[in-house]
Amino acid sequence: MTIFWHRRDLRFSDNAGLYRALKTGDPVLPIFIFDRNILDKLPSKTDVRVEFIQRSVVELAEAYRAHGSDLRAYYGHPVEILRELRDAHQPTAVYTNRDYEPYAIARDLAVKELLDEHDIPFYHFKDHVIFESDEVQKQAGGPYTVYTPYMKRWRKQLATRMSTYEGEDISYYLKPYPTEKYAGNLLPGKAPSPVPTLEEMGFTPTEIEIPPKEASDETLKHYHSTRDYPATTDGTSRISHHLRHGTVSIRAKMLRAMQLEDDTFFRELIWRDFYSNVLQAFPRVVDESYRREYDTIPWVNDEEQFQAWCEGRTGVPLVDAGMRQLNTIGWMHNRVRMITASYLVKHLLIDWRWGEGYFADKLLDYELASNNGGWQWAAGSGADAQPYFRIFNHHSQQVKFDKDYAYVKEWVPEYDTDDYPSEPLVEHKFGRDRALRVYKKALTEARES
Ligand SMILES: Cc1cc2nc3c(=O)[nH]c(=O)nc-3n(C[C@H](O)[C@H](O)[C@H](O)COP(=O)(O)OP(=O)(O)OC[C@H]3O[C@@H](n4cnc5c(N)ncnc54)[C@H](O)[C@@H]3O)c2cc1C
Repeated sequence: MTIFWHRRDLRFSDNAGLYRALKTGDPVLPIFIFDRNILDKLPSKTDVRVEFIQRSVVELAEAYRAHGSDLRAYYGHPVEILRELRDAHQPTAVYTNRDYEPYAIARDLAVKELLDEHDIPFYHFKDHVIFESDEVQKQAGGPYTVYTPYMKRWRKQLATRMSTYEGEDISYYLKPYPTEKYAGNLLPGKAPSPVPTLEEMGFTPTEIEIPPKEASDETLKHYHSTRDYPATTDGTSRISHHLRHGTVSIRAKMLRAMQLEDDTFFRELIWRDFYSNVLQAFPRVVDESYRREYDTIPWVNDEEQFQAWCEGRTGVPLVDAGMRQLNTIGWMHNRVRMITASYLVKHLLIDWRWGEGYFADKLLDYELASNNGGWQWAAGSGADAQPYFRIFNHHSQQVKFDKDYAYVKEWVPEYDTDDYPSEPLVEHKFGRDRALRVYKKALTEARES
């Protein structure tokens, strides 16, 4: 028997590793582990991600049952659970899809050692991205660190190998894996094995509404013109958390994006691969600024101001609306992510890592690579970042992207009343001048030393 271990690929269809496992012909036992190494560290027992994952695992188990099989879902420590499975079943092999985050890499190494003891192969496959870092390299070798040349090379790479799908020529890299074709090789299910409930794992349900797996045709058709306006309902696809947890296939999303007349949406999806490429090639960015000199900036790190930012009480309407949207629904519009992040690192002079950590705790679509990339972009410290001297003016951002204050009023009901602060925590001109002075001095000194 072969084990297939689901992680950030919570779907049956078009699943690279599962397809490979099934194709061997050996009966496949699918498993999922609610990882206590992660869950025990979460700051709150009401966590929308855990809830989303739990619901998705229940859905996944149903998909397996529809094929006469079943999913075994465990709650515990992966190495211990895999040791038990190894000892109980002596599987022929364990298959999975690759995860590029440092914790996952260390965990997989420990699992490999455990399986090696019994000469059980541990196979892992690319599924979460279209291209891994070593597949899109500069002509002279080495990873790209700037998005535009990366994107161009990425597109060339996509065009290199062609295949057919439903009679159409498509890139080999986007062709779906027909998992269903080999569903007969799944281990037959007996009595349905229950998926641990949130309560059994010590969590409380939140009633959060999860956006659907597909954006509407209308949304995608107008995406290029609506994507920057946070008040626009359905102005963006809202699929980020599905991509994060693999409840949808990135190949399918790319294929759909390629059929659109305008390619803005397609290029946004490539940003996701770009940030994964940066994390894979430079794992040090998890703790350090990609541009090391940015780690010499003397942050103010005022805890009270940080708390006000977290709670959406800065007196800057767009920042407050964004933070409250994040705190309420676990998602924030991309334009507002940029504005809130910029306000924290530039106007408040608070270390980007503080903001990154807060987003990591709150975002339903939290993905280390994109979050770190987004934060280091805002701070100016990233591989392809906004230069430090470009500082968002929140007044002009307001006029440009939410001129009627529709978004602000949706999330900050007391805006325009006496209950709303009359002055921002840090006023734009003062904050901008201070940031320019502090950044410039630190970076100049670091470069000269
Ligand atoms: C400070 C900051 C932190 C961020 N943290 C995350 C995060 O933890 N997880 C995350 O998935 N995205 C993150 N992003 C990127 C972006 O804001 C979200 O992907 C987007 O808002 C999700 O909404 P959507 O699915 O409607 O996006 P759409 O605009 O519909 O885009 C479609 C998809 O393209 C990808 N994408 C779009 N923009 C980006 C981008 N700038 N970087 C990487 N991928 C992108 C996402 O997978 C997204 O779902 C962050 C951006 C910033 C500025």
